[in-house]
Amino acid sequence: MRKLGVILILILIFFFNLQASVKIEYKSKLDPEIIKTEKISGNEYFNVFELNKVFKAKIIEDLLDQRLKVNMYDEQIIFLLESSYLTFQGKIYNFEFPIINKDGKFLIPANFLWKILPIIFEDKITKKSNKLIAQPPINNTIQTIVLDPGHGGKDPGAIGFSKKVFEKDLVLTITKKVKKLLEKNLGVEVLLTRKKDKFVSLQERTKFANEHNADIFISIHCNAHRKKKVNGIEVFYLSTAKTDEARAVEQLENQVVFDYEGGIEAVKKYDDLAFILADMAQAEHLEESYKIATKFQADFINATGAVDRGVKQANFYVLRGAFMPSVLLELGFVTNKAEEKKLTTSSYQNKLANSIYEVIKNFKLRYDQMQ
Ligand SMILES: [Zn+2]
Repeated sequence: MRKLGVILILILIFFFNLQASVKIEYKSKLDPEIIKTEKISGNEYFNVFELNKVFKAKIIEDLLDQRLKVNMYDEQIIFLLESSYLTFQGKIYNFEFPIINKDGKFLIPANFLWKILPIIFEDKITKKSNKLIAQPPINNTIQTIVLDPGHGGKDPGAIGFSKKVFEKDLVLTITKKVKKLLEKNLGVEVLLTRKKDKFVSLQERTKFANEHNADIFISIHCNAHRKKKVNGIEVFYLSTAKTDEARAVEQLENQVVFDYEGGIEAVKKYDDLAFILADMAQAEHLEESYKIATKFQADFINATGAVDRGVKQANFYVLRGAFMPSVLLELGFVTNKAEEKKLTTSSYQNKLANSIYEVIKNFKLRYDQMQ
């Protein structure tokens, strides 16, 4: 009889445990996850932040509007606080019991998991006896970085004061240093638009970044000026060029299209085909690009003590087609004797590479936290 009692208790504990969580299995090799639930006046609830753990959902508490927004699978679910209603893609759904606020945490009835999720995400989540089978969540953290060493092959870029230093070689060396730092310390995927001394058209560069779903695109260059005394660092983000100086750099970097990609016809092609579409694509990233550009500039000046030529807007072909935040770095003037010399030393290159790494790292940390 005693034995039977123990077994009964074990069975009760077993069922209690089953009740106290919802198991999520993924349609992939990911390990299953558990959403913990608790019973309050006979109903089962879970903390909304469990959705972050299991579905990588972004939770936004909009207390002013009495709304709780949950972004998952690239869609938004809007809960009305203290009610049992939510809206999704303009439709209203009822999960029977209202959301409750317990010690500042929002608890959602488990009904939502069993009854609503399999309906609103019918192609992604299915209910199977006592568990949910779900498509792996979309990971929105920064994972892919495309670095674009300017010029290459038949296009040497800027030619140094000494006539022996080419922009294409300098920027490739620095870019490779950045790649190493990023891969070693951040575990992100770093892709280069060219790994060796090879010509790559401007259009191919952004196409490459788009095709690989890059989270950020950084084009790396060195500058040139007909006045040999001009020196310093400047960072650009995309826009129609604002100053004569910015227009001059823009012309310099865009010249490659004229020189190596088929003269005026090629320029026309870029203008007609790419501009409107790409300009729209880049517009939504403008603010982020500007923020990143500002951080780059501050960090470079801090690390190198170079002349601060500021953050500028220009209309570079190479940034136009990128569907992600993108900036163009001009790391110094090879036409200036002293700056050319510095740029060829590995200690100065390391300083620049380290600054680029630091800015990308902080961008990633800030961005990932928002997800
Ligand atoms: Zn360049």
